Amino acid sequence: MELHSLPPCPGLTAGIYTFTSPQLRELARYDNPVNPLPRQYVSGESYRYLGRQYRLKVIADTVERIVLSRGWLTISVADPANRRAVQRLIHGWYRAKSEHVFNERLIACHARVETLGITLPALGIRTMKRRWGSCSKTGKVTLNLKLIQAPRALIDYVILHELCHLVELNHRPRFWALLTRVIPDWERLRDELNHYEFGEI
Ligand SMILES: [Zn+2]
Repeated sequence: MELHSLPPCPGLTAGIYTFTSPQLRELARYDNPVNPLPRQYVSGESYRYLGRQYRLKVIADTVERIVLSRGWLTISVADPANRRAVQRLIHGWYRAKSEHVFNERLIACHARVETLGITLPALGIRTMKRRWGSCSKTGKVTLNLKLIQAPRALIDYVILHELCHLVELNHRPRFWALLTRVIPDWERLRDELNHYEFGEI
């Protein structure tokens, strides 16, 4: 079991709401971009990856694969009507991409704060309903899988926030002073993250 020694990081909380009617869900889609309508996993749906938008195209093929090219996320699957199969492929694809990109960004961000005496932490990736990132007492940084949809600058912002916790495991003034030293424009990035349109993945 993972122990979270911190409450949710201010500015890094993702909203969660439940809706009782289609009308409310429809309204919520506009008011709460982090809680869009449930996916159907059919051609035409929009998916985001590293800040860019791609349209889903599901085609029938004996070999399962995913190709990202020129604005299209093309999925080959035996039965395009099998939404569960399409969902499984998309989730696996996001998962694999996030392993690669998050590790790469963690190394790049760590290089920016290495002078603070921080060692490269272990990385965890999970789908979290209320947080974009978290940091454990053991020095493990966990990122929300959904972040893979966002531009690299926003992923870096979340990582750097968590890396600063390896020095200051709190949200006291010293933490915010450190964060400001590391990312002077963190408030702009926080606002951008809060307004970014995340889809269900
Ligand atoms: Zn925090």
